[in-house]
Amino acid sequence: MATPSPSQLPTQEDLTDPCVHCGFCLSTCASYRILGTETDSPRGRIHFLKAVEAGELNLASVADHFDSCLGCYACVTACPSGVRYDQLIAQVRPQLNELQVRSPWQLLLRRALFALLPYPGRLRWLLAPLRCYGGSWVQTVARWSRLTQLFGPEMAAMEMLLPPLSAASFQDDFPLVTPAQGPRRARVGLVLGCVQRLFEPEVNGAVVRVLAANGVEVVIPPRQGCCGAVTDHQGETAQTRALAKDLVAAFAGVVGPGKSAGAEPLDAVLVAASGCGHTLKHYHRILETDTPWAEGSRQFAGGVRDVQEFLAELGLTAPLQPLASYPLRAVVHDPCHMLHGQGIAAAPRQLLAAIPGLTLTSPLDAGVCCGSAGIYNIIQPEIASQLGEEKCADLAATGAQLCVSANIGCTLQLRQGFQTRATPLPVVHPAQLLDCSIRGVGLSQVSPGLGSPVAATVPG
Ligand code: SF4
Ligand code: SF4
Repeated sequence: MATPSPSQLPTQEDLTDPCVHCGFCLSTCASYRILGTETDSPRGRIHFLKAVEAGELNLASVADHFDSCLGCYACVTACPSGVRYDQLIAQVRPQLNELQVRSPWQLLLRRALFALLPYPGRLRWLLAPLRCYGGSWVQTVARWSRLTQLFGPEMAAMEMLLPPLSAASFQDDFPLVTPAQGPRRARVGLVLGCVQRLFEPEVNGAVVRVLAANGVEVVIPPRQGCCGAVTDHQGETAQTRALAKDLVAAFAGVVGPGKSAGAEPLDAVLVAASGCGHTLKHYHRILETDTPWAEGSRQFAGGVRDVQEFLAELGLTAPLQPLASYPLRAVVHDPCHMLHGQGIAAAPRQLLAAIPGLTLTSPLDAGVCCGSAGIYNIIQPEIASQLGEEKCADLAATGAQLCVSANIGCTLQLRQGFQTRATPLPVVHPAQLLDCSIRGVGLSQVSPGLGSPVAATVPG
């Protein structure tokens, strides 16, 4: 595995200085698009930070304008001056958390989310009773009558994000080692993701099958927890470090001399959720000041790849068949932590283009956030909901019959956004399409919740 060198932490001043206030970032900024205020744009926030540096402003007085930021990093891609707003917001968020300026309700909500989401075991227990509710007529009536709104916009947003839960949900009992089919071309580890493994375990199942079919042996440590993306993106430093250490230890616990998955090292550690991938690739930053973990975390981070990035580099060898719904037009949604956070745009398109009969398209505003942004769509539901509606309209305007998204947060957000449209697009992970094509089965067989989603009439 390649080893990234330790980062030299830039100061806040280093990070704000390159901004020349040109405003090129404004049109791509999700919060600015909805709120329309300079104070909720990257340029406005940088102005605030310069004023804080100069001692002219108290950060606490402008905390709301930093909380309105989705952390989508679209401004980093757009900025011609190379302003690293991603590093800036990563420095500011822990400061905001220490200031304790949020309302008691927001503080309580955040604590509850950080106590639940990164722990699949706890989440599984909490969600188990909801299996009867998710997808049932009771849920339909509750949403239609807007009963869920009685508990506040945040609770209503959480309820709206709840996918249909079935007996198939929550299953993450993968074997420790899934052998490659045919000659082995690589040996990888797989991070399951905490929300993904509970809400959409079919995605990890498809990933394992696609990898194995392409000659990749897959190692999945059974005791792995959350990678820390949920807390990292909100500046919860101590919790993120603890989660990162646990995950590095989970892999070290099964791979090595005398370990249960064998001594051979892994060629890469893969993940199929781009929000997680972004954080995993930053473990060297997260643990660089923790001496016993610094070297191990650098090595770990250096080996992390998004599943699509890895497969595009390795090349597909498994024969691909036309999809059952041939021909099919799919629109690719670029998750922000994939496009802006990891600079990956070509890999998913390259892989999907290999499927016979599949036509790919992209939305007009591909670089704008869908509003998911980790827990943002729960703690800032109004802004997130508007962004979700705009994104779904943009995706639907392509005339596609299917939407492809490689991040579970975006998938849930888009499904929610499509609910209010006359012709909702089904949303699937790229690995699920590849899996269908390799096995020659319909989408409903790799994602039971989809039913038979593809319209019978296909535009030419
Ligand atoms: S962050 Fe970059 S794009 Fe935005 S105003 Fe500053 S220099 Fe211009
Ligand atoms: S990270 Fe996204 S929401 Fe935040 S300032 Fe940049 S573009 Fe705007």
